[in-house]
Amino acid sequence: MRTGAEYREALRDGRKVFVMGEGRVDDVTTHPATRAMVEQYAAWYDRHSDPAWTDILLTPANAAGNRVPWAFVPPRTSADAIAIGRAIQTTTFLSAGNITHTPLYGHLIALGVLTAAQTRDARPRHAANAMAYRDAIARTGRFLTFCGGAAVVGQRMRPDPKDRVAVKRVSETDKGMVVRGRLGMHTSPAFAEDVYVGALTGLEIDGHPAGFIVPVNAPGVTILCRAAATRDRDPNVSPLSSQYDELDGQMWLDDVFIPWERVFAVDPAPEAIPRWLRWHHLRGWLAKAEFTLGLALALTDAMGLKQNDSTVGYVVDLIAEVQMVRSCLTAAEHDPEFTPSGYCVPNHAHLAAGGISLFRARQLMSEILRIIPGSSLVVAPGGGDLDMPELAAGLEEVFGGGGYSARQRAALLRLAWDHVSSGLDGRESAFELHASGGMPGWRAWLRRSFGDYNSLANGVLKAIDLPMPAIDVAGIGTAPVAPRRTPPGG
Ligand SMILES: Cc1cc2nc3c(=O)[nH]c(=O)nc-3n(C[C@H](O)[C@H](O)[C@H](O)COP(=O)(O)OP(=O)(O)OC[C@H]3O[C@@H](n4cnc5c(N)ncnc54)[C@H](O)[C@@H]3O)c2cc1C
Repeated sequence: MRTGAEYREALRDGRKVFVMGEGRVDDVTTHPATRAMVEQYAAWYDRHSDPAWTDILLTPANAAGNRVPWAFVPPRTSADAIAIGRAIQTTTFLSAGNITHTPLYGHLIALGVLTAAQTRDARPRHAANAMAYRDAIARTGRFLTFCGGAAVVGQRMRPDPKDRVAVKRVSETDKGMVVRGRLGMHTSPAFAEDVYVGALTGLEIDGHPAGFIVPVNAPGVTILCRAAATRDRDPNVSPLSSQYDELDGQMWLDDVFIPWERVFAVDPAPEAIPRWLRWHHLRGWLAKAEFTLGLALALTDAMGLKQNDSTVGYVVDLIAEVQMVRSCLTAAEHDPEFTPSGYCVPNHAHLAAGGISLFRARQLMSEILRIIPGSSLVVAPGGGDLDMPELAAGLEEVFGGGGYSARQRAALLRLAWDHVSSGLDGRESAFELHASGGMPGWRAWLRRSFGDYNSLANGVLKAIDLPMPAIDVAGIGTAPVAPRRTPPGG
């Protein structure tokens, strides 16, 4: 595994990055809008050589006596999926669920591209190229992120339907193709090294839907990130926002050359490439939900509410939501599916049910965390306030007591505030509502992966003492899911 220092150095690669509200960022490793996240990603790499994390992040010793990062292991068994899931969850918990894309996520993208290329009956070089790319990721630790490739609002408004696309191929040679366009928002392009652009661009290769991989520092690439989440200058006031604002951004391509080895014929089925990504998303959501529950428990103690029945009732409501998703993930990893080439995929029938459950619960969970501490959530002071001689004694009187100093109780309250009431939380909510297709996407995956349509429908007919027609409702699951929008040109 590369070190954090090596990753940091790799980002000084001439990339052209803008952050809204900040202008051009010459060096993402030092700029105030980006450097905290670079340090988080550097820590992600370094954690792999921290003895405290060895048993969570590394495999048992292989035949050669080496332990390798689970982050870059293609799962072949249920046990592999369980171990990778645990690595995702425990590391995502550290950021309260805010770091949603890591190099491990990038490896799952590469594995999805490989599987989609293998599934598509195109020329063998596509699968071979995808395999070579996945192997390179595992060897180097290179950080890949994902952009679906759909047209953005202005592109969808163009008069000519042919122009309602994100990217067009402007030329090609025997070495590769040149593309031009502007891709919609995706997560962490300023911190990643490569972006996979999905088949929603409408591009084709050899008559098949095409995806391609573009280096962030390739000539002609511009990254335009959203504004950083609003946060206080004092990191004690914004403990999460000041560390875990994983910027999302658009990628603009001005005549960018993509070699053919990085263009893949892929299967357009909605399950194909993101199959492992949805699992990663749900693991991340559960990490956030567990962080919420942890905060609720800590606040129940800090607010002196352990014996308060209604507070305990709220905590039990949170436990029920967390435990529901834990159970769905346990089922998905213990009862997996397998790709034709033998990779293990957490079962989407269980996974999608867990995702829908958490989608429904997340507003409730945030509200409960705002209810438990009451007004203290909003009025808790920062470190600077507590240091002011005119205020220190009064604030100690107001916020101290019951085994907590004012500083301790306020720190916990600020953490909870940043978790469920800040701009960072708003971003995280928008991410969940869009990044994996939102509720419509999760409902579609459940619909397609549920297996008991006919057996249940015909099963109930046996309770009726009449000859009944045989029912065939399996088409509910197999019918193509309606596209969210009319496809390009339609
Ligand atoms: C924080 C964040 C991070 C993201 N990260 C990634 C990422 O890493 N990779 C990635 O590929 N994508 C990512 N996305 C998703 C992507 O950026 C877009 O948000 C998504 O594709 C939706 O497109 P749009 O935002 O342009 O909305 P539009 O397509 O312009 O839609 C605007 C609104 O109209 C609704 N709408 C539009 N058409 C219909 C319709 N026919 N029926 C019902 N409702 C409709 C949409 O649901 C939405 O609410 C991310 C999004 C966010 C917010």
